[in-house]
Amino acid sequence: MIQLMWFRNDLRIHDNPALAEAMKSGTVVAIYLLAEGQWDNHCVSEAKRSLIVRQLHTLAEQLNNLNIPFFVKQCEFFDESSKVLIDFALDLKAESVFFNQEYELNESVRDKQVSKHFMIHGKKVFSYHDSCMIPPGQVLNKSNQPYKVFTPFKQAFLYEYYDQGRPLSPVPSPQRSLPMSSSIELLSEIKLNNTWDKYWPCGENEAHERLDRFVETSLSRYHKDRDFPALPGTSTLSPYLSIGAISTTQCMRTIMSRSDSKVESICKGTSDWMGELIWREFYRHLLVFNHQLCMHKPFKPETDNLPWKHNTKVFEAWCEGRTGFPIVDAAMRQLKTTGWMHNRLRMIVSMFLTKNLFIDWRWGEQYFMANLVDGDFASNNGGWQWSASTGVDAAPYFRIFNPIRQSQKFDPDGKFIKAFLPELRSLDSKDIHEPTSFQIRALNYPEPIVHLADSAKRAKHLFRSLNNHNESSFLDEVDISA
Ligand SMILES: Cc1cc2nc3c(=O)[nH]c(=O)nc-3n(C[C@H](O)[C@H](O)[C@H](O)COP(=O)(O)OP(=O)(O)OC[C@H]3O[C@@H](n4cnc5c(N)ncnc54)[C@H](O)[C@@H]3O)c2cc1C
Repeated sequence: MIQLMWFRNDLRIHDNPALAEAMKSGTVVAIYLLAEGQWDNHCVSEAKRSLIVRQLHTLAEQLNNLNIPFFVKQCEFFDESSKVLIDFALDLKAESVFFNQEYELNESVRDKQVSKHFMIHGKKVFSYHDSCMIPPGQVLNKSNQPYKVFTPFKQAFLYEYYDQGRPLSPVPSPQRSLPMSSSIELLSEIKLNNTWDKYWPCGENEAHERLDRFVETSLSRYHKDRDFPALPGTSTLSPYLSIGAISTTQCMRTIMSRSDSKVESICKGTSDWMGELIWREFYRHLLVFNHQLCMHKPFKPETDNLPWKHNTKVFEAWCEGRTGFPIVDAAMRQLKTTGWMHNRLRMIVSMFLTKNLFIDWRWGEQYFMANLVDGDFASNNGGWQWSASTGVDAAPYFRIFNPIRQSQKFDPDGKFIKAFLPELRSLDSKDIHEPTSFQIRALNYPEPIVHLADSAKRAKHLFRSLNNHNESSFLDEVDISA
């Protein structure tokens, strides 16, 4: 019998539970639905679209080697998915559809519709958890509730992982060939800027080479180097994880099989990196039980009463890297140029936007999605709500980063700043973090957009007085000029 494999955010053939199960059950035909209207609605960046499209081409080659015909079909928005899929399944006389789960709200609604249609037509639906290492709902606290704090989640996760963690799915072997050929011509109709290939080559091999390189050269120092944006201290795997070119299970199993528990530094680097993979997992599990997160709502509802600013001039200065704070501006230009930003910098720029400029965190969240090559709803929303102190286990509202101190600590000689702000290359390692007024004028660099101490003080005051409406006028005094 023909089984339909529906690829979505799992663009790989190795460790793909839905594909492995479909192949066990019969002869597989694969499909991908190209939903450009939905990409627009979800603000998918051009960098990510480029990576997806290129990845689909390599996936087509891999599927061809397995004798699996692959079809890319148009489906502007998610609500058309069930019709396109069921028509295709009826044409093929397919028995079932197999897919890996996505947890966001629109995706869940779409999948329910698809399942309903398939069942109405007497066809079966099989879904699997590939992007989580343990299915959401299996890591619960003593009251059988999902965790809202990361550290106990991590402890419970690690405890469960040894018994309940998803094993790697078997490597597929070629099936008998079918009398039909693949059709992926639609991919060539997508017009994309080809500057992204040089930063983010596509392919499962690329993702695995990055993982191997990172494990060989950086993992043992991860805990020491991870916060320094000028160092190659992190894996840069996030774009590949975000489209499913590699899975977190593959990453976790790789480091567990290679780590030498006798070497202390390896243990620390490895356990810190595992911790980051578990943060990703934590935000995914949270989403399943808190769909309001997909509706632009803060995790802490009371923080919706904060008088967030909607000042487009100030916001644009932040987006374009013209705030007058070198570390913030260099980070924003890294994002614009490469589609990626180092984690320490994501924390600095998001906290600066939400606490010093007091701009609505949802503006920053959307701008990140529209520009990040690794845009991932759960991690992005989690990161923004962490910085804005509106989220689960978020940064306490009174602990506001000072971007100049952060810059001095994590980019001490200004190497990262100079890479993205060539206009400041002549400054020494003392002045680069906070140029003098004279240097600002001479180098034609913007004046600081906000007074750091005053704005931080006011943000704290606004959080403290959340329930006192009289206090909201306080924000009007904040010294913000674009
Ligand atoms: C405001 C903000 C927005 C963010 N938006 C995204 C996003 O859209 N997509 C995204 O993948 N990550 C996001 N992150 C998390 C993190 O910054 C990136 O995952 C990380 O920088 C990717 O680089 P890397 O692959 O070298 O990470 P590594 O340090 O090598 O970590 C390995 C993997 O662990 C996961 N990870 C690491 N840190 C985090 C974290 N804090 N939260 C969740 N997962 C993490 C990622 O999948 C990452 O690839 C955001 C963080 C913040 C503060």
